[in-house]
Amino acid sequence: MMIVLDAVSKWYPTGDRPALADVSAEIGTGEFVFLVGPSGSGKSTLLRLLLREERASAGQVLVAGRDVARIPDRRVPRLRRAVGCVFQDFRLLPNRTVAANVAFALDVVGRPRHVVRSVVPEALELVGLREAAQRYPDELSGGEQQRVAIARAFVGRPRVLLADEPTGNLDPATSLEIMKLLDTIHRAGTTVLMATHNASLVDAMRRRVLELGDGVLIRDEADGRYDQTV
Ligand code: ADP
Ligand code: ADP
Repeated sequence: MMIVLDAVSKWYPTGDRPALADVSAEIGTGEFVFLVGPSGSGKSTLLRLLLREERASAGQVLVAGRDVARIPDRRVPRLRRAVGCVFQDFRLLPNRTVAANVAFALDVVGRPRHVVRSVVPEALELVGLREAAQRYPDELSGGEQQRVAIARAFVGRPRVLLADEPTGNLDPATSLEIMKLLDTIHRAGTTVLMATHNASLVDAMRRRVLELGDGVLIRDEADGRYDQTV
């Protein structure tokens, strides 16, 4: 198993109900899983637990066999290298070139310069943006910016890729391109967990669907659709 959630609950100090309540699920190595549920149902919280941006209040979260709550702080960068992530709002550094944005992920984990020089163009090639290496994020379309973010997430060859609403700011045609790219990364052997509101993509892909409702896991369906078929 690449990801194991064992009776995971999360209470934020200010919350009047748990953001996650007794969630258990296992995601195998190389799986592609959609995480669906209305706004506020706990999807982002679940992803933040996997990155150790938050800690579970109860239960265990394992990534690649490691209990993430027990990883020492100095090893958290290693976790974040193993778990790439992309977000709805891209989160690129505006004052850095495309290449520098992708390289940044490697620089922070101390990869030697010659490695950075070779893998950054490869990652940009994968997302079809090799020619854009010296441009700046604000010179690119939203879809191109998301592709840069995917290159940045993938450049360190993570074992897991988390995507939080990656098509939320994109039109349908561009969303489909981003979906295809995430599918390519999945086919390369990466375990992918994608939180989304994009029903047409989920229905087109027919992959495993986990659904949260008010912090509770209410559905775990193979070959699922966005809406549960009754
Ligand atoms: P989703 O990603 O499905 O929209 P979230 O994980 O963002 O859901 O939110 C789940 C619940 O936790 C919501 O009730 C939300 O208001 C609450 N929540 C999320 N982040 C925080 C936070 N940092 N502090 C307090 N409450 C939060
Ligand atoms: P900045 O001036 O913002 O620091 P640079 O473009 O000079 O940005 O490069 C910063 C980082 O990006 C360096 O680590 C460099 O090795 C890497 N880098 C820049 N351009 C390329 C490129 N075309 N291919 C690979 N790596 C690059």
